[in-house]
Amino acid sequence: MTKNHIRKFIHIDMDSFFVSVELLSSPNLMGLPVAVGGTAAERGVISTANYIARKFGVKSGMATATAHRLCPKLVLLPARFEVYERISQQMGEIFKRYTDKIEFISLDEASLEVTDQSHCNGSATYMAEEIRQTIEQELYLTASAGVAPLRYLAKIASEINKPNGIFVITPAQTQNFIQNLNIRKIPGVGPKTYSILENLGCRHCRDLTEEKIPALIQYLGVHGFYVWERCQGIEQSDETPNDIRSIGVEKTLPSDCFDLSQCHDELLRLAVILRQRITEASEEFLIIRNNVKLKFSDFSVSTTEACAHSLNEETFKTLFQKLWDTKRGGRAVRLIGLSVKVKKRIQDTPQLELPW
Ligand SMILES: [Mg+2]
Repeated sequence: MTKNHIRKFIHIDMDSFFVSVELLSSPNLMGLPVAVGGTAAERGVISTANYIARKFGVKSGMATATAHRLCPKLVLLPARFEVYERISQQMGEIFKRYTDKIEFISLDEASLEVTDQSHCNGSATYMAEEIRQTIEQELYLTASAGVAPLRYLAKIASEINKPNGIFVITPAQTQNFIQNLNIRKIPGVGPKTYSILENLGCRHCRDLTEEKIPALIQYLGVHGFYVWERCQGIEQSDETPNDIRSIGVEKTLPSDCFDLSQCHDELLRLAVILRQRITEASEEFLIIRNNVKLKFSDFSVSTTEACAHSLNEETFKTLFQKLWDTKRGGRAVRLIGLSVKVKKRIQDTPQLELPW
């Protein structure tokens, strides 16, 4: 890798975000174990717990009834997603001062690419520190940051000195860091995948040697190859060249929707609108991908895409189904977005020739 090709990522993750926001308006609760979530009576779960509550074992995703058993003095507050979303937008405004390559993973977490940015003399570490300070000064909240030459490593790094901390993995440290990394830390490796990997004798990234690939594919399918790549420090390039842009439509549903066929109807209506929009400018570009985005009732966002050379309703439906099956986890759908990625048509290129 030549120096010019080394990319710089900053991962920002707010510390116990929902609870921290609630404490801004209820400072009297400071020092108490506090969580945001649904009540035990409605069989709710904990969305976020502060660090005091976490000491009792309370954590995100846990049934609220269990949380109360572990921590009888737990103060439970209802979620106010509109408030969190507003603050999340303010975070986005701060990020924009440094880069326009911002990917929100959820309301409280974002991945920024700052390669070739001139702020702080180009130092990603200083930019991350400045961003953390600005968040604290302007929003009265703390964030943790990770800095690394690979996007997924920056995310892993952001957890190391949490809360209110930063961890930097320099290019020179990267190989060694990955070798000694527990595979469980890789985004996308859950308990199920990890137990399969353990059975194959793999606990750390260094254990996933090339000889393991056939077994990985046999037991984990394509996901096995994804994990193998991460263990080698390979990240599929998500670089968006300047001549690729996205044209999309999205709609917040009138009410949160649990009904698949209702979502399908909305998806097809959106596809019609998108098709009109594309037709207006279709002379200028070629479609290269179809993309579906869903926002769920807790405001978290998932997207997925596939290669396609036209706007294709069936592809949109398949992508939608994939998110519905794998990402929804019992939540309702709040927003549906459809988009196509397009590449500027080079006039000399014969129309049948695909862009790669
Ligand atoms: Mg967080």
